[in-house]
Order: sequence, then C-alpha cells, then structure tokens
Amino acid sequence: MAVMTHARIDTVDYRDLPTDIQDTFDELMEQADEAGTNDHFLTLMARAAATIGMTLPPSGDIRRCACSCVCGLVFDAEHPDAHVIEWTGGYNLGRVQCPTCADHHRETA
Ligand SMILES: [Zn+2]
Ligand SMILES: [Zn+2]
Repeated sequence: MAVMTHARIDTVDYRDLPTDIQDTFDELMEQADEAGTNDHFLTLMARAAATIGMTLPPSGDIRRCACSCVCGLVFDAEHPDAHVIEWTGGYNLGRVQCPTCADHHRETA
C-alpha cells in the first residue's frame, strides 16, 4: 500500500499509472457511469480516487480528461476551468476536458 501523507493530490496523470491500477480505475469509472444511486456513485468515485492515490475533491466527482489529445489527466470534474464537451444521456459521466486542455484545445460535441 502507498504511504499515506497529508498532502493534497488534486490531479493524477493516468498515463503514469501501472496497468493494473489503470484497469481497476477504468472498471470503477465504468461502474460509476452506470451507478443507479448517488450514494453508489460517490462510493465508486471515492474508491477510484483512492485507487490512483488522488485526494477526492469536495464535489466527489473525478474524471479522466476526454480531450482527443494524449492528455490523461484525472481531475475534479467540477473544477471551474474544466470544459464539459458533452453532458450525458442516461449515464452519469459526461465528457469533460481538463482546465489545461480547455484552455489550449477546447472541443465541442
Ligand atoms: Zn486534458
Ligand atoms: Zn487536450
């Protein structure tokens, strides 16, 4: 297990994670996408954040950058500078660009 520190980790680069951690993260995000209740959704988000060693933001909602570039940033989905490409129909997770991508290569659905 990773050593716990009290430093906040607000973002994690998905591409830096070992493959088995990436797989676990992907699975949790998929389950979160289909979670039927808000409680279940938040539990899965908390587990996903813990899996990658990220501090869960107050929104309880993290997302991997959906930009078409190579960016793999995992960040607070409700960050004020994040850019929503697409809200979802029927699922929980929309497509969101991280603040840096929103600035440099903003996409529209
Ligand atoms: Zn990005
Ligand atoms: Zn990008």
